[in-house]
Amino acid sequence: MSHTPETEAAPMVRFENVTKRFGDNQVCEDLTFTVAPGEFVTLIGPSGSGKTTILRLLMTLERVTSGLIEVGGEPLSHMPRGGRTVPADEKHLRRIRRRIGMVFQQFNLFPNMDVLRNITEAPVHVLGRDKEAAEAHAMELLGMVGLAEKAREHPSRLSGGQQQRVAIARALAMRPDVLLLDEVTSALDPELVAGVLGLLREIASTTDITFLCVTHEMGFAREVSDRVMMFDAGRVVEEGPPESLFGEPGHERTRSFLRAVL
Ligand code: ADP
Repeated sequence: MSHTPETEAAPMVRFENVTKRFGDNQVCEDLTFTVAPGEFVTLIGPSGSGKTTILRLLMTLERVTSGLIEVGGEPLSHMPRGGRTVPADEKHLRRIRRRIGMVFQQFNLFPNMDVLRNITEAPVHVLGRDKEAAEAHAMELLGMVGLAEKAREHPSRLSGGQQQRVAIARALAMRPDVLLLDEVTSALDPELVAGVLGLLREIASTTDITFLCVTHEMGFAREVSDRVMMFDAGRVVEEGPPESLFGEPGHERTRSFLRAVL
């Protein structure tokens, strides 16, 4: 996908001069970037370079130390009220969080609920959707991820690959604008990785969801991304379309990272 400035839609995600510190540890340093609606952006870089923190900031699991983050034009840190701008309250954050889905390395399914309930829980109890409509949608999603026959199983009875498919269906059940993927295949047995990546590739190509993806799967990143951002020590050292970033990296840090992982 290419975006010229003239035709560029308002960004779905915007980071402006974002800095995040944990005590003395500066994890993100003055980060400024945008992600367009429907774009698939992959974050690569060495462990500890701040990639997961960026996803957690977006998910409002962490707060910025300074700077601004917007999702769909709405700031995470503050909101308009009565002609003034006031700090964001929990209600405002919940509203933004609903637009964002996240899939984690460790699946994080609810162990005490069957697969169907894992998927319908948030649509029914957070969005207030009708239970039957939510179940019909969940069954449709389970069909899409190839697990319709597992609707009444508990997560512990599923393989890692199947659990991750359920987690993906659960995220999609909220009809998110943005989907955050945090090393979603890292905990899987090698033979299960390709199936999950294939599923994500299909979702990326058939929906207009905006993706931010942290992965060590460079082949996948190369194939599916519109743009790859290479992080080091909390900064973007280089970014570009995958063919140029992987094909002819311009920065020595990118070259040495790719040599180590490819
Ligand atoms: P990556 O995803 O690139 O491996 P992370 O974003 O997980 O990097 O971590 C970046 C740095 O932030 C690391 O030094 C990590 O120890 C630190 N960090 C992350 N989360 C916390 C936290 N909740 N408290 C303190 N330090 C943290």
